[in-house]
Amino acid sequence: MSLVLSGISVTRGVAIGKAVILHHDQPEVSEHTIPRPLLQEEITRYRAALRKARQQLRDIRKRIPADTPDDIAAFMDAHILMLDDGVLSEAPVKIMRERQCNAEWALKLQRDTLVRVFEEMDDPYLRTRRDDVDHVVNRIQRNLQGNYDPGHDGRGGQLNGAILIAGDVSPAETLQMHQQGIAAVVTEYGGPNSHTAILARSLGLPAVVGVHHLRRYLRSGEPLVVDAGHGMVIAGAEVGELGYYRRRQREERQHVAELNKLRERPAVTRDGHAVTLMANVELPEDAIAARRLGAAGVGLFRTEMLFLNREALPGEDEQYEAYLRVVKALKGAPVTIRTLDLGADKCLGNAPRTPAVSNPALGLRAIRWSLKDPALFSPQVRAILRVSAHGPVRMMVPMLSGEGELLQVLRLVAEEKKALERQGIRFDPAMPIGGMIEVPAAALAADALARHLDFFSIGTNDLIQYTLAVDRLDEEVNYLYDPLHPAILRLIQITIRAGRRAGIPVAMCGEMAGDPYYTRLLLGLGLREFSMFPATLLEVKRAIGESRLDTLDRDVRRVMRSRSAVRIPALVDALNRRP
Ligand code: PEP
Ligand code: MG
Repeated sequence: MSLVLSGISVTRGVAIGKAVILHHDQPEVSEHTIPRPLLQEEITRYRAALRKARQQLRDIRKRIPADTPDDIAAFMDAHILMLDDGVLSEAPVKIMRERQCNAEWALKLQRDTLVRVFEEMDDPYLRTRRDDVDHVVNRIQRNLQGNYDPGHDGRGGQLNGAILIAGDVSPAETLQMHQQGIAAVVTEYGGPNSHTAILARSLGLPAVVGVHHLRRYLRSGEPLVVDAGHGMVIAGAEVGELGYYRRRQREERQHVAELNKLRERPAVTRDGHAVTLMANVELPEDAIAARRLGAAGVGLFRTEMLFLNREALPGEDEQYEAYLRVVKALKGAPVTIRTLDLGADKCLGNAPRTPAVSNPALGLRAIRWSLKDPALFSPQVRAILRVSAHGPVRMMVPMLSGEGELLQVLRLVAEEKKALERQGIRFDPAMPIGGMIEVPAAALAADALARHLDFFSIGTNDLIQYTLAVDRLDEEVNYLYDPLHPAILRLIQITIRAGRRAGIPVAMCGEMAGDPYYTRLLLGLGLREFSMFPATLLEVKRAIGESRLDTLDRDVRRVMRSRSAVRIPALVDALNRRP
């Protein structure tokens, strides 16, 4: 009988191979008192362990093959930087002096403090960055304890074609073991945003994370099947099952090879209509993945990620540097920088400025907050204008609900332009300014907004939330969150038509744009610019390449005429099935 263990699917792919189990969790450490005269020696021992960790990571970084995606080197750089940061280079030394304790204990205390800070963060992406702390701290601990570096343990031969089973693995270890030929990674901890997950996606490595107590059930050398797409690990698969997975493995490989062929190809429908595919990015590092997957530019840079979970807010110069990194990474392709979308679920952790209100999503959020707080908004506008001197930059305003606030924004931008001019600072005087259409009022009054804007981008995540009155984060009512609701489709259509009449481009940057299930429908509604999480770009490109605009019209009209919301999914299925 086979044993099936489930976890979180973070990549696709099927792998069949023998288990190699890695046992290196949080090292056990205890506190020892160090007599004062020996304290300096203990500090020297700590510094030597730090130096060794730095050297190990630099060595791994140097061996990254030239064809490895750039974002992987960025992970390694981030870990090397952490080793140089005072929180790991100085704080444990201070603890050792104060408590007169051993280096391992001081490092453990400092690790616990850092992890607590990360665990209090609301943002799931940043919360998982606590893993980075553990990966770096564990490496120092192992060096202190004189243990081997697991990537260098001479198992090279054994790793080829093997399935790595671990509590958690660091990016450095994943990278080393990938070079040694592992076929898949399965971990007990981690989530979809963990570095193992991100790295596995970049490397195209089948991976499942969060399989609880995995190592309790498996033996080293045991044959396993990993069905990454379904988040499953199967031990003791029967002959029939193995045959099925071998077939799936061949199909998956073919699918990936076909998708990869699309990287360099333009996004064009079968009847020759070009479509623009852009990427949504949250951190400057994401821009590299966007380029690699062939995005035509950045359609949404969510700048609030730079502001969350930190003590002091980033000033104009820091923002300018961060935006510049994205503009440079895009090498001449357009970058759409969205102004701050703070409020509702994205609040500043350090200084809660919003009073407790019963409906934060309807309150001081996004452009409303920015206009209320020019000390926050003006430096951002200046930073965006300054970076527009270095490449095709567009500014985008979130959560517009009326013409009045848009005019206020435009006035403020005009004032900042004058100020920059007076100071002799360069910017693009014609930098396009666009608006997000994510409030029903903005969609219905899109014609009024279009008169003042250079482009629209439809934010379906919020448009659906506000139109259907369904909190996008509330699991109790999530079942009502429906992109195919006739009200949503009509608002999208109104926006696209208003844009067309005003002669301005209309993009979409909500999740709906990145789901190939909706691609044909949106093409049929007239959408020609899609912006999405980079990982879905090739799937959408494929859906575009399989569609013909000339045959879509009639089917889409049928969808839009449907009086029955329950029939719409069946009509969209039929539309997607059409050859
Ligand atoms: C949206 O609302 O669709 C959108 C892209 O913005 P966010 O998800 O950042 O609110
Ligand atoms: Mg939004």
